[in-house]
Amino acid sequence: MKVYSCFPGGLSKALTMSYDDGKYQDRRLVEIFNKYGIKATFNLNYGQMGAEPRMSVEEIGDLYKGHEIATHSFTHPTIAREPMAEAAREILKDREGLEEMTGEIIRGHAYPNGSYSEEIKALFKSLGIAYARTTKATETYELPADPMEWNPTCHHNDPRLFEHADFIVDFPKKQYLKLLYVWGHSYEFDNDDNWDRIEKFCEKVSGKSDIWYATNIEIIDYMERAKRLRFDAACTRVFNPSSESVWLQVDTDKYIEAMPGETTHLLDAVKR
Ligand SMILES: [Zn+2]
Repeated sequence: MKVYSCFPGGLSKALTMSYDDGKYQDRRLVEIFNKYGIKATFNLNYGQMGAEPRMSVEEIGDLYKGHEIATHSFTHPTIAREPMAEAAREILKDREGLEEMTGEIIRGHAYPNGSYSEEIKALFKSLGIAYARTTKATETYELPADPMEWNPTCHHNDPRLFEHADFIVDFPKKQYLKLLYVWGHSYEFDNDDNWDRIEKFCEKVSGKSDIWYATNIEIIDYMERAKRLRFDAACTRVFNPSSESVWLQVDTDKYIEAMPGETTHLLDAVKR
């Protein structure tokens, strides 16, 4: 018997988006994402909110509802050039502000100016950051080997964007987990006069029953839960110690839900 972990619902493909800086063009972008049911993460600098053209706390209101708000540092410095104490303050002050604004526990990050180092990765992790996005395009669909150095598939202006969209829509094989991860800034659509590009992209990839539309932190938290599953040596039983379900593929065509706090007998579950 083969047992594989899956995305929620037994899916093996996912899409996530990541947009930086919280400028007012995010309004139009959120509207497009909401129209197509696409989930995104928005990386905000609390210390710069309200400084034109960035939205203020009041202007943001519940704009990002249903999406993830993540840190992007307090003032958007090139952190790898800063003393570590300053880098620590940048992340903590951003977290505190965003957490006060949302009432949530904020654990995501996108490195401002794409700047980081091994020291910064370790520092941010110790300060409660669960993952951090870079600006390095992989042009592939793999889950991050190191969540503190999460390289996206591509920027939305990447010439291969629609090739990647076709891939995630069409890829039929279920023996792999595939993730398409696109990042950018919403103001770039104004600068480049190409809002039709993101609209066309969203239209293409949306509404597919075999794609999981997720925020960055939903993917990280889910994969963490999958890692915490406890199997017996024969892989016939699995205990899920988390508070939410994890999905497994058994053999090639059966899917089971490992319920939170329960032991699931895989053989019994696949017969049902
Ligand atoms: Zn930025």
